[in-house]
Amino acid sequence: MAKKWVYFFGGKETEGNASMRDLLGGKGANLAEMSRLGLPVPPGFSISTEVCTHYYANEQSYPDDIKEQVWEALKKVERLSGKRFGDMHSPLMLSVRSGARVSMPGMMDTVLNLGLNSKSVLALIEKSGNERFAYDSYRRFIQMYSDVVLGIDVGEFEDILEDYKEDKGYSQDTQMSGADWKEIVNAYKVLVEEELDESFPESPEAQLWGAIGAVFKSWMVPRAQTYRKLHNISEDWGTAVNVQAMVFGNMGEDCATGVAFTRNPSTGEKALYGEFLINAQGEDVVAGIRTPQDITEASRIAAGSQNPSLEILMPDVFSQFTHICEKLERHYKDMQDLEFTVEQGKLWMLQTRKGKRTMSAALKIAVEMVEEELISEREAVDRIDPSSLDQLLHPTIAESAGHEELTTGLPASPGAAYGAVVFTADEAEAEKANGNPVILVRVETSPEDIHGMHAALGVLTTRGGMTSHAAVVARGMGKPCISGAGGIRVDLPRQQMIIEGKIINKGDFITLDGSSGRVFDGRVEMQQPETSQEFRRLMEWADDIRRMKVRTNAETPSDVKTALSFGAEGIGLCRTEHMFFQGERILSVREMILADTKVERQKALAKLLPMQRQDLIQIFELMEELPVTIRLLDPPLHEFLPKTEKEIEEVALNMGVNSEDLKERAQELHEVNPMLGNRGCRLLVLFPEIVEMQARAIFEATAELSKRTGATVKPEIMVPLVGMKSELENVRSTILSVAKEVEQENDVSLNFSIGTMIELPRAALRAEDIAEVAEFFSFGTNDLTQTTFGISRDDAASFLGNYQETGILKLDPFVSIDEKGVGELVSIGVRRGKSRRPDLKVGICGEHGGDPHSISFCEMIGLDYISCSPFRVPIARLAAAQAVLRSSSSR
Ligand code: PEP
Ligand code: MG
Repeated sequence: MAKKWVYFFGGKETEGNASMRDLLGGKGANLAEMSRLGLPVPPGFSISTEVCTHYYANEQSYPDDIKEQVWEALKKVERLSGKRFGDMHSPLMLSVRSGARVSMPGMMDTVLNLGLNSKSVLALIEKSGNERFAYDSYRRFIQMYSDVVLGIDVGEFEDILEDYKEDKGYSQDTQMSGADWKEIVNAYKVLVEEELDESFPESPEAQLWGAIGAVFKSWMVPRAQTYRKLHNISEDWGTAVNVQAMVFGNMGEDCATGVAFTRNPSTGEKALYGEFLINAQGEDVVAGIRTPQDITEASRIAAGSQNPSLEILMPDVFSQFTHICEKLERHYKDMQDLEFTVEQGKLWMLQTRKGKRTMSAALKIAVEMVEEELISEREAVDRIDPSSLDQLLHPTIAESAGHEELTTGLPASPGAAYGAVVFTADEAEAEKANGNPVILVRVETSPEDIHGMHAALGVLTTRGGMTSHAAVVARGMGKPCISGAGGIRVDLPRQQMIIEGKIINKGDFITLDGSSGRVFDGRVEMQQPETSQEFRRLMEWADDIRRMKVRTNAETPSDVKTALSFGAEGIGLCRTEHMFFQGERILSVREMILADTKVERQKALAKLLPMQRQDLIQIFELMEELPVTIRLLDPPLHEFLPKTEKEIEEVALNMGVNSEDLKERAQELHEVNPMLGNRGCRLLVLFPEIVEMQARAIFEATAELSKRTGATVKPEIMVPLVGMKSELENVRSTILSVAKEVEQENDVSLNFSIGTMIELPRAALRAEDIAEVAEFFSFGTNDLTQTTFGISRDDAASFLGNYQETGILKLDPFVSIDEKGVGELVSIGVRRGKSRRPDLKVGICGEHGGDPHSISFCEMIGLDYISCSPFRVPIARLAAAQAVLRSSSSR
């Protein structure tokens, strides 16, 4: 049997369904599903993504039997629509749209009104009795087709129209009559002929294949490639092409076109939310040329708009539409983003897909859908993207009093940000590269601006509604956005914008409050948001599901408090060297490092002891009886050596030595490769007095606290950068002898454990020996990645970006664990360690402990806990729960 390339949808003969998105693309699969559900969908067919793959694998050519299959499907469309393609009496017009597996809004090409030519336009006039509509559709088609398929600049078409309107004294398109549009059509055709030396294609069949080819070609245009890279979409997936009978929203006042969400995508509120335009085609709504009207009365009133809602203008259509929304939500068990058209009073559904939403909306929708018994708690937990929880931690405006409010626009995407004004995407990118925060200001954004939107902290547009490109894209990115701020005039040549007479130049600071739509002059203070009730509920469900504990990497009381408030269940890594970065402390650390003799070193350490002890008491108090892993000193020496003359003099003065001698000592200590030099346990073996001081600080803090409060503190002492059992044995014996001393001095019995970081390949391979003397392992995957790849943590940035661009590496291994190499070493370490000590506690404290992808790997290999920075604790809790759900579903 011949391979099937084309899948029909429409009524009972529908061949696809929602589960076929890999083959039919998201749009095609959902059009098929809606047809199956008996919803009013114009008939059509999807040319599968496999054709796209074939097209690129075979020098941009089609499979042999595709023409026949397209033709057959087209016959069915004709039968169901009662119209015929290229017919002189009842012509069928088509839309041709792209549709990949995952939505890539605005990235690829679309052609509407296809099939019109000099003859069928006459038939369309006769059928519709509306010359204006017919020629308006025809000129749109010529312009779109010429742009997308023939590669003629749309600007040239726009110039013709603008000149014509000026000659006639028109200011608006609505003043154009049928005869006017007819003249425009003729002028457009002349333009095409001049540009291409051939006339605009009359044959509908040639038009159709031209458009299909253009959609496939658009898969590889640079903006689509950039989008795929940003969103991790594989190049191999390809796009489907959806060919569908046109329905017209621009035939008159009983026609309309619109977009809607079944719930509010900004807040998650359970209320239909959307916009429409009377007498318009779909592209007009998103283009932001006319201000759209609200669908429901409630939102019209809330927006204070005078334009009537769909609910009032077309009550029957509205009621049918709300039923369809409910049906689709129940069917897909998720909030839907819909496109529809009303042609002469009849409602047609053109698209449904999972609606993009802000993080707080996602939480609210998930939790409320559990309450509505639409989904289970597990499904709710599985639905939230852990990385996006970051959005909830976005700042909001703290206090705007005293700051001039410049203007307001639509609150298109929540959160707040300030930055210097820039007017182009390229400038935004360049300024970001210079480390400057920027706000991108545009009349409206287009897919060409995506890189600038990524670079900017916030986006402000003067045109466009809540579903404009800027609004939808910024919301997806979790960035504040204000759209449609009509009080602003952008003067690009002068690089300034004028707001009610006030001039804001490029580089001036403004603040956006995307939640209220207000724009402020200057920088307004920000505050961290409170987490919502929905957030807390979802986290509780996640906690019930997850197996691994979630700890934090923290060493300051403020970080510890943040982590606890986010639900940390212990400290997995307290980097003691980080406790010594500031002021007087760094001076003493430098003294200690630069000391020439043991006595001098002990003198410096004696200064550090009380500080270390006091810090630990504070941390133990905050953590109550939760576990705390304290890592002994692990300073890459170069981070601590004094660099400037002033620093050297300061240390010399403190140590009472000559600064020249000290400089010499610093030079002696200089290392060619400090990351692989005298750090971690090597320094501790060389200078056991450091271990003595730190162990004493830990034990004295423990003893004092248990005396003072009766709390059972059980510190976990961790030795860094161990590669050999003998290294750990050496440091361990020092710790044990200090423990004895402190027990005797204080007449207490200490309860503690000693373990090690596993961050060198040798340690992973020899885990069996090391486990003999270690009660726990914590995988330091930052160093383990560095040493497994032989890539310096500090120098990787200069080439890792290029590695990702060229596809040598898919992901940055310092962000997301390299399962096959580094991960293999971790799992060897776990297996071999447990073979010697079955109750060995195993965790991870490298940056990967906060990365969802790596967390699911940690679940798979059976780690007991993950430890990450405080702000990532909620992400880790959720990702750990999802890891359980996914590992049980894959079993
Ligand atoms: C590690 O190497 O993964 C680790 C946690 O230690 P540090 O980043 O302090 O070297
Ligand atoms: Mg390390």
